[in-house]
Amino acid sequence: MNIVIFGPPGAGKGTQSNLIVKKFKLHQLSTGELLRREIKNNTEFGQKISTIINQGNLVSDEVVGNLIEKHISNKDYKNRLIFDGYPRNLVQAMNLDNILKKYDQKVDIALKLSVSLETIKKRIIERKNLEKRADDSEQIAIKRYSTYENNIKPIIDFYKKSDLLKEVNGEGSVTQISDKISGLIDGIKGWLYKIGQYKYAKYKFINYGSYRRNKYSTK
Ligand code: AMP
Repeated sequence: MNIVIFGPPGAGKGTQSNLIVKKFKLHQLSTGELLRREIKNNTEFGQKISTIINQGNLVSDEVVGNLIEKHISNKDYKNRLIFDGYPRNLVQAMNLDNILKKYDQKVDIALKLSVSLETIKKRIIERKNLEKRADDSEQIAIKRYSTYENNIKPIIDFYKKSDLLKEVNGEGSVTQISDKISGLIDGIKGWLYKIGQYKYAKYKFINYGSYRRNKYSTK
């Protein structure tokens, strides 16, 4: 089961991804985190992208495409990925499909967290005090929100067309949102199991002991 989670900056993608990762034993792939790590470690690549990120602009599709392929090609993460902050535009959504296909995988659910600009501003200011992210100022928050709004419509249509889109109200408490998301993921897993895609369904039973794991495993 591979999951895409998207929403405006400050929508809670990171927080919710962390919870899903623990609950469903997935691997989180946050392009924002990976890029920030490069900047923090002051690598040559980090120096090149720091201005772009600190000004609230997007890094090139090619650069992030290469970054995610490194993780998708890792056998340990096969069908266990949650993409947080990727795709950010239609080209990236199509790239993701193509890269996944190359490694015999696909997106199983696309979760859209919806949050108003007012809530975003409030959360970003709170986060700035906690995490001291260079791109967390009100002005940059508005810029990042509008970049998101400008690019998101084609992504929504893309996932709607393939019937993968699930919208989640991101205004509630962390637990409320997380319960809603867990329900949606459980639903998808049940469905995958029903249509016979055991290789995905086995993760549903992974916590239930070796008997079930062996019974439903494709191996
Ligand atoms: P995030 O942590 O997802 O809010 O990302 C922080 C910043 O990293 C963004 O404002 C972009 O500058 C950059 N970034 C993260 N993900 C992507 C992506 N998929 N494509 C291009 N730039 C990205």
